[in-house]
Amino acid sequence: MSNRHTQSDVILIGAGIMSATLGSILKELAPDWKITVFEQLEKAGEESSHELNNAGTGHAALCELNYTSEKSDGSIDISKAINVNEQFQVSMQFWSYLVQNKLIENPQDFIMPLPHMSMVQGADNVKFLKKRFETMSKNPLFKGMEFSDDPETLKEWIPLIMNDRKSPEPIAATKIDTGTDVNFGALTRMIVKNLEEQGVEVNYKHSVHSMNRMKDGSWEVKVHDKDGCRMEYHKAKFVFLGAGGGSLELLQKSGIPEGKHIGGFPISGLFLQCKNEEIINQHHAKVYGKAAVGAPPMSVPHLDTRYIDGQKSLLFGPFAGFSPKFLKTGSNMDLFASIKPHNILTLLACGAKEMSLTKYLIQQLLLSKEQRMEELRDFVPNAKSEDWEVIVAGQRVQVIKDTEAGGKGTLQFGTEVVSAADGSIAALLGASPGASTAVPVMLEVIKRCFPQELKKWEPKIKKMIPSYGQKLMDNPALLEEIHASTAEVLQFNK
Ligand SMILES: Cc1cc2nc3c(=O)[nH]c(=O)nc-3n(C[C@H](O)[C@H](O)[C@H](O)COP(=O)(O)OP(=O)(O)OC[C@H]3O[C@@H](n4cnc5c(N)ncnc54)[C@H](O)[C@@H]3O)c2cc1C
Repeated sequence: MSNRHTQSDVILIGAGIMSATLGSILKELAPDWKITVFEQLEKAGEESSHELNNAGTGHAALCELNYTSEKSDGSIDISKAINVNEQFQVSMQFWSYLVQNKLIENPQDFIMPLPHMSMVQGADNVKFLKKRFETMSKNPLFKGMEFSDDPETLKEWIPLIMNDRKSPEPIAATKIDTGTDVNFGALTRMIVKNLEEQGVEVNYKHSVHSMNRMKDGSWEVKVHDKDGCRMEYHKAKFVFLGAGGGSLELLQKSGIPEGKHIGGFPISGLFLQCKNEEIINQHHAKVYGKAAVGAPPMSVPHLDTRYIDGQKSLLFGPFAGFSPKFLKTGSNMDLFASIKPHNILTLLACGAKEMSLTKYLIQQLLLSKEQRMEELRDFVPNAKSEDWEVIVAGQRVQVIKDTEAGGKGTLQFGTEVVSAADGSIAALLGASPGASTAVPVMLEVIKRCFPQELKKWEPKIKKMIPSYGQKLMDNPALLEEIHASTAEVLQFNK
């Protein structure tokens, strides 16, 4: 059998939320371009983007305490929360555009309104939460946030958490009703299905092995067709490495200088999933607590109502842990294979700095189900083991790189775009705030890699994202308008 060769304008590697989002934006901006996708699994959205591999929080910084910090003068810094919220508003506008233009259907299959809450215990934490609430509620982005330390009000908000609570410690929470639960797996599948309907070729069971830059600046991608047991060679002017945890390896294989001195630190995850419908129905919110000392910031366990396949469910977690795999379906050799002469010093420096994190993750990994249930009982005092089952979540690969602020080998908890100077290839690394920011992050890829087209594309981008180029915080009237229209299109009021 001869090897298959094709030529495309754009190759997207991986069919997770990032490639799906980039593909759908590009399809709107340049409908004539040939886009080809390679996905090593049998379906789209099966790795981190799958609904049970992530927590499904539409991260708008409405409840995540790690996006705000107390400054030395006692005031609260909410700049990161503002940034995350602004980014989420961009994603929501694009999802509304997709629904309004019938590119995807039934918004309730992927997004549901759900109160977002932060909950803390202990006098100092209650004081912090109150100050945080006072600062945030003055900002139009967080309008509608409520605070309470009154047990009776809290019982109304979170009966499952408050009933049978014996701890004498003071407890307080904030609540905001404009939060969401997002099924990123369903959204990915819907977008990819639409791309296929529009003629995008999505090749499943095709694993990208490596890539080579051609003399004319384009790329030739070597792909293993798993069913056909053969190698294929596909050319494109632009390649996006949207392979999730697999992106770092591919970036290294591309050989671009921008991909050097970067390493990855894998963090695994587990959830406890409730099996008892009576308990599931007593909770209706995403409730985020405060991180334990030494825990990575994005691994704060939270008690979440989830909507999956039209059914309400209840998840607690993710519990962080350590696994050398870079993908849930990856290999135990992934971490070792990512060590290269150019990043070994960066990795060693990080290893020395992050000993306590590694120790914490290994301790977490060794927890028994009963020990995890004890953590759950901080939220649900009378939780019974038989009602909950442990499920394995997705892998997150945090970026390690040298930074001016942190020095050599600094562990990054954000999402990072790495692109070649000529814009012919870009990779998405990192995991947080992750899927929620897929749209602004993919717009950043477009800005960096297609600067010559941007001017021409801007009017269309503004149609898709009315607030494009503006800060909603500074434009409360537009913010109100966008909130109202997205709520209507995404059927939040049904
Ligand atoms: C435990 C956990 C909780 C999270 N919670 C949230 C949350 O609440 N909210 C939020 O917004 N985000 C959350 N995230 C982050 C979010 O899940 C990710 O940022 C997002 O799903 C990443 O999407 P992706 O498309 O980059 O990667 P993925 O969804 O992992 O997709 C990558 C795809 O590439 C394929 N692939 C890999 N290598 C190759 C190759 N060589 N050839 C071909 N295909 C390949 C994979 O099979 C996969 O389908 C969480 C993540 C985890 C792990």
